[in-house]
Amino acid sequence: MDLRDLHDLRDWLPRALGVAERWGGQFGPYESHEAHRVASDAFTEAFDRLAKRMDHNYPFFHPRYAGQMVKPPHPAAVTGYLTAMLFNPNNHAAEGGPATTEMEREAVAALAGMFGFDAHVGHLTTSGTMANLEALYVARQVHPGRGIAYSSECHYTHERMCHVLGVEGHRIPVDGYGRIDLDALEGALRGGRIGTVVVTTGTTGLGAVDPVHEVLALARRYGVRVHVDAAYGGFYAVLGRVGAGGVDPAPWRAIAGCDSVVVDPHKQGLQPYGCGAVLFPDPRAGRHFAHDSPYTYFTDAELHLGEISLECSRAGAAAAALWLTLQLLPLTPDGFGRILAANRRAALRWADLLDASGELELYQRPDLDIVTYFPATADRALSSIDAASERLLRAGMTAEADPVFLSVLRADADAFVRRHPGVVRDAQEARVIRSVLIKPESEHYLPTLHARVAELAADARATP
Ligand SMILES: *Cc1c(COP(=O)(O)O)cnc(C)c1O
Repeated sequence: MDLRDLHDLRDWLPRALGVAERWGGQFGPYESHEAHRVASDAFTEAFDRLAKRMDHNYPFFHPRYAGQMVKPPHPAAVTGYLTAMLFNPNNHAAEGGPATTEMEREAVAALAGMFGFDAHVGHLTTSGTMANLEALYVARQVHPGRGIAYSSECHYTHERMCHVLGVEGHRIPVDGYGRIDLDALEGALRGGRIGTVVVTTGTTGLGAVDPVHEVLALARRYGVRVHVDAAYGGFYAVLGRVGAGGVDPAPWRAIAGCDSVVVDPHKQGLQPYGCGAVLFPDPRAGRHFAHDSPYTYFTDAELHLGEISLECSRAGAAAAALWLTLQLLPLTPDGFGRILAANRRAALRWADLLDASGELELYQRPDLDIVTYFPATADRALSSIDAASERLLRAGMTAEADPVFLSVLRADADAFVRRHPGVVRDAQEARVIRSVLIKPESEHYLPTLHARVAELAADARATP
């Protein structure tokens, strides 16, 4: 959050404490145990050491950080999280946290609405990894003995989770935009060994959006399920489903017809880490999680969140954080959509500036808000582009004055040449620079950011 947000929290955090104090007060006095007590000097001293250690960090909140998909949580998320955390509810079962269980149901229903689901079963998870594991677990239960197909640009978790689940994984090549190749997919589906296809709406590397609508039509012809990994890009459904912000609506509208979807509120959703979600439009998917534990679940006739989940204990505070955020920034074009639209405008504007730049070249036009680019070296050889990208990254991060924080993406030679036929193929791969413009602050800061990155690129091209 920016420094103004921290200022707001000076007001909100004491109110969070007030909620716990007021509620706790009704249970009467008791004596706290000396085993818990710590000397206030010792606390101060240890806290100061913690504070010092936190200096070793990157400024994720600042638009001069334009690297990975990370930003601090919204003040509403922090306030919601802290308020609930003081009670420490566990959303594994309704008795673990009745209030936060309700908030989780409402927040998950809002996510289901964002994707256009009429009905759903689903819940929050601690991460996109866990959420995808659950979706692939259901994939295996529905089509035992059949494999799972995913593109070569999908998140590596899918291949890994296929190993965990003992399911055969099928890696499908991508087209020149980093989207799953439909011909290759059809070839694989014809073999009859695939039960589920994973599509990604916003790949982690390039932010490429797979053509969900086309994959869905193809998959149905072969009796195959479709799982949508929208961990990073999912919130773009707010714009995508109505065709706002220059986002192609077709893939986003098709998600409602798929079999499962994963979205990470801890990426675009303004939440602190520890918040993913998995949703199934067919509530009957819940039956795959049924179990009969003797020591939980005794107050509610409905399915408990813990009965439709592979994870056991989960922070109820994460549900409270998301719930409070969505009260203030609903999943509409005028609510959350304004944040995403700003990210997207910044990404498109940067793409234009990069196209016009002499120092830098755009690697690929962004589908969402991930911008990829590289220093334009004189010889246009992959080896020198790779070295210049590395120098640019390092120079930005280590600059005493005016640093910028970027990330790199490895592009293999074939992928590179497809996009830039003029490059000299003297290496297997080359790193390019990757900037996830996940914060709306990037919009106003963009001219400054671009000028600084171009300045660093000019040096990076010159100094071998
Ligand atoms: C981040 C990401 C994941 C993994 O999610 P975590 O929350 O990091 O565990 C999976 N798929 C995609 C597309 C992602 O961007």
